This record gives sequence, C-alpha cells and structure tokens, in this order.
Amino acid sequence: MSFVDLPENVVLCRNLAGGEWRMPEGAVLLDVRSPYTGTVIGRVPLTSADGVAEVIEAARPALASWRAMPVRERTQYLFRFRHLLEKDLNRLANLAASESGKTVAEARAGLLKGLEVCEFALSLQNLDSGSHLEVSRGVTCEYRREPMGIVAGITPFNFPAMVPMWMFPISLTLGNVFILKPSEKVPLTACALGELMHEAGYPPGVFSIVHGGKEAVDALVVHPDVKALAFVGSSAVARHVYIQGSARGKRVLALGGAKNHLIIAPDADPDLTAQAVVDSFTGCAGQRCMAGSVLVAVGDVGQVLTDIVRRAEKLEVGPGMGAIIDNDAVARLETAIERAASEGARVVLDGRGKRPQGEAWAKGHWLGPTILDQVRPDMEAARRELFGPVLSIIRVPTLSAALAVENASPYGNAASIFTTSGAVAQAVVEGVNAGMVGVNVGVPVPREPFSFGGTGESRFGHGDITGPSSLDLWTQLKKVTRKWSARTDGSWMS
Ligand code: NAD
Repeated sequence: MSFVDLPENVVLCRNLAGGEWRMPEGAVLLDVRSPYTGTVIGRVPLTSADGVAEVIEAARPALASWRAMPVRERTQYLFRFRHLLEKDLNRLANLAASESGKTVAEARAGLLKGLEVCEFALSLQNLDSGSHLEVSRGVTCEYRREPMGIVAGITPFNFPAMVPMWMFPISLTLGNVFILKPSEKVPLTACALGELMHEAGYPPGVFSIVHGGKEAVDALVVHPDVKALAFVGSSAVARHVYIQGSARGKRVLALGGAKNHLIIAPDADPDLTAQAVVDSFTGCAGQRCMAGSVLVAVGDVGQVLTDIVRRAEKLEVGPGMGAIIDNDAVARLETAIERAASEGARVVLDGRGKRPQGEAWAKGHWLGPTILDQVRPDMEAARRELFGPVLSIIRVPTLSAALAVENASPYGNAASIFTTSGAVAQAVVEGVNAGMVGVNVGVPVPREPFSFGGTGESRFGHGDITGPSSLDLWTQLKKVTRKWSARTDGSWMS
C-alpha cells in the first residue's frame, strides 16, 4: 500500500522501490496541505541522497528483461494501466484537485490529457519500427532505437497527474525503467498512479517513485546510473537540472516557466476574445504554464478590455475557480500586485483579500482575478512569471510593436493572436518567439500526437516532451551496417 490512513484522514506517502512501498529510513516528513482548506491531508518523506540511491539500486534488476521485451508486449501493460485509470478517473480527479488547488473539472481534464499521451505511447509499436535501406549492393543500413536505461522524471505541483503522464507512458513503452520524483506539494496523486501501475502488472522496479525536494532531485541529477532526465517546473530549477545533468553526459529535457502573451487586434471577435482571455488567465487559478498572463492590446480594443474586466469580476473566488497552492504563493502574488501599482500600473480589478464564504474555506489560500492596466514592458508584472490569476495589460499602437513586446520576453512557451484576419494571424504565427501558438485560442495546448513544448527559457534542451520528438529524449539510435557476401561455394545454395 502506498498510503496508510492516519487519524483524521491524513495520508502517509511512501517511496515505491523495486515494486514495494517503503518508507525511506530516517527521512523528515513534510506536511501536505490542501490549498482549499489549509488542513494537513498528507505527509511525505524528504528522501536523502542515500535513499534515492536505494531506489535506483532497486530499479536496476528490472532493466535487462524489460528492455529485452518486444514493444508489443510492453504495450500490453500500458493498455491495462490506461483501462484502470479510465475506470478510476473520478477518484483521481478529486485527489489531484484536493492537493493541487485545481478544480475537479480541471484535474479531470489533466487526466484525460494523460490518457491521450498513453494513446500516443500505445502507437509506438507502429511509429518506432525503425528504418532499413539497402544502401549498395549487398549492404544495408538500419536504425535501431534503443532505450537509454534507467531514466527519471521530476515534476511540478500544478499538474499532479498530467505532467508525470507526459513522461512515463512513453519512456516505459520505449524500454526504459522510470523513476518519478513528484512535487513534494502533490505526492498523493503520484502514489495513486503508482498503485494503478502496480495493479496493471508492471514488473517490480520498472516504475518507481521517490519523494522529496531539492536533495532528491540533485541526487537523481548526479547519479551515474540515471541516463536521461525529464524535468518540468520553474525556469531557475529547469536551468540548474539541465546544466548539471548535461555536464554529466545525460540526456536532459527541462521545461521551465512561462509568460504567455495574448495579442488582441482591433478586428478581433469581441465575444470570443473576451471569454478566451478570461478563461486563459483565471483557469487553474492562473497556475499553469499555458496561462495567458500578458494581454497586448493593439490600437483601440477598449470595448473588449471592458468586457474582459466585467466577465472576470463576475467569477466567484472559491472552489469553482480553484485555490492558490500555499500561503507563500498568495503573499508573493500580493506583493507583485502592490509593486506593479507602485511602478504606475492601474489595478482595474483587485483580487487581494477575496475569499469564499464559509468556515470550511477560511484557512484556504485564495486570490481573486486581478487585472493590471497601463503595464509597461519593463515592469516586473510584464517580465516575471507570477503564477496566479493576474493579467497585465500592455497597450501598443501597432502589430509590430506587439510582436516586439512578445519577442523581448526571455520565455517562449506560448502566444496567441485574436483577429478575424488571416494575414494578421499569419504574421503572428511567423513572428512570435514561442513554441506553441494560438489563433483565437487562449490556451493553445496541442492535442497529441502534436507535441508539447516551448522555447527560450521555457525549455532547456532539445525537442518536445510528448509526441514524436520525445522518442529522441528516451532512446538512442544505433546505426547498423550489414554486408553479406554472396557465397558460391556450396552446391546446396543453388
Ligand atoms: P518548482 O521549480 O518549484 O518545482 C518543480 C520540481 O523541482 C519539484 O519536483 C521540486 O521538488 C523540485 N525543486 C524545487 N526547487 C528545487 C531546487 N532548488 N533544486 C532542485 N529541485 C528543486 O516548480 P513548481 O512551483 O512545482 O511548479 C510551477 C512551475 O512549473 C511554474 O514555473 C510553471 O510555469 C512551471 N511549469 C512548466 C510547464 C511547462 O510545460 N513548461 C508545465 C507545468 C509547470
């Protein structure tokens, strides 16, 4: 069992090592609090470097037989996992919501996206068939994709199921054994995924979980047996993991933070645009790397802006909108709003101090939708990722000025244009510095098999985390050249 129900429904999380749930020796236990109520709902061990080495050690024996298994056989485990997850979707969505502050509907959507990645991974037996060519008479060249070996995924708090599921269905199906280091803020969902993996029958050690924080991450990054790393989280840590992992010769893809620009042209469809902008900056209470957090208003779009404020102020702060992960994050957001105001921004909608009615939510972590107008590109509110339901509006006279604002951002996760003109849309698609671009779409997450990934400081490394380019993260190509000379010495050959 991954969890033990302690008194008052507090869940004790354990590591999953070599197919067994184990409490790492001597580990400090951290409280896991529900963002909705502020109450302790779990405890998670902070595994030491030695404890991480033990999990890696316990995974090693599984590698040889798992990688030798034909991909068609490996996919059978994923078929079972996918089926189990689908059956258990509601319980998992409630669990993910309770520890991350997402709404249940958002947590459900994250799980469905995870299922989509499973479907992509299930198609790998077709995609990953390699290639083979007769390059000259009697000589053939062949690509063989081989797994990296023991690999690890380090994930953030804001998508407790989806981000791990960007990683393990693909890397396992490709023949790696996988160690998940979930965010210490949301370890319960990871344990629930571990239980389903166990129920699906994955052999012991093929899928492991190690809980912890910085020490556990650093131990995975420096351990010589971990051959590839996927990281998703803030840019500062992504850069650290990328540099330290790459310096040790590991394959690393580290996705970082974001500051996504929503550009509104004067010819934009007013209704569609206003709703899409509000959904984009308030969904998941702004705690998603695809949130539109900067609105770049081109020319006279005053009516749309008024409508955005009107719709956002109608949103009810509370469980229907989602909570902020912890009190530190609320304080950080409030300070950022204060600073923006002192730098000259106009707070046209102020979410500070807004909270739902009722005793149950009194200790929850809340911030209402906040809109800052007259933000200048040099202000912190325009440049830094705030990670909450805060929208900064920058006004510019022309489309090229809007592109210049977007291009000046060091991040490059996503950008969107709202327009009814194909030519304007095309100019933005070509001109923005972002890995994912939306046209009249506020959250331009590509559907599988189109891959997910940004550029600039939103992505350290090469390729994307899902879709066909993820194959290059989790495998290496072996090139085989074969020559068979024609034998004429045996009468039996004729
Ligand atoms: P975070 O960087 O604080 O934590 C991410 C992971 O790194 C966690 O597992 C954590 O335990 C570990 N970690 C934290 N500090 C560390 C340190 N100093 N050294 C080593 N490891 C450390 O991120 P978070 O607050 O959990 O998640 C929010 C961030 O993730 C935002 O910046 C968001 O934009 C980003 N994110 C990006 C994407 C993407 O696809 N680009 C997707 C989701 C979230």
